Amino acid sequence: MNNYPQLSPLKLREEAQPGYQAESWQPTWNCFCCHDTGFVQYSLVKKIIKNYVPDRHKPVECNASSCNIRLGETLYETNTLDRRFDPEICDRLDAEERQIWKKWRHEKHRKRLESLELNCTKNLRARSRTQEEQFEVERRHQEMRNNY
Ligand SMILES: [Zn+2]
Repeated sequence: MNNYPQLSPLKLREEAQPGYQAESWQPTWNCFCCHDTGFVQYSLVKKIIKNYVPDRHKPVECNASSCNIRLGETLYETNTLDRRFDPEICDRLDAEERQIWKKWRHEKHRKRLESLELNCTKNLRARSRTQEEQFEVERRHQEMRNNY
């Protein structure tokens, strides 16, 4: 009874690790409609099936045209899926979800710049900055803007 093969634990994806820097985080999935799970994301399903409840209703198959995920045959054979979302719907959901993520990242970035500027203003009050310091600060700002 004791001779199971022994496996080492597999690490979570990087963004699921504790202490992961949310600011530098960007989604790694290819399909924004299903986040590369093959199933349309709950928040997106709700846009089309208003009273959708995940545990009560069939998972919705993603048909986005850029989606690479293939679901297992069994799901089709057992009629487990809601297959009514055609590529046109999924592509629209994908596009909308991309916009939301872009906005979110943009907002994060803006807040980060704002807090940086705030810190600089505080420094100015204490004593005026030398030319070199001023240059460094401005270059840092410029770099942050360019890197985005
Ligand atoms: Zn997908």
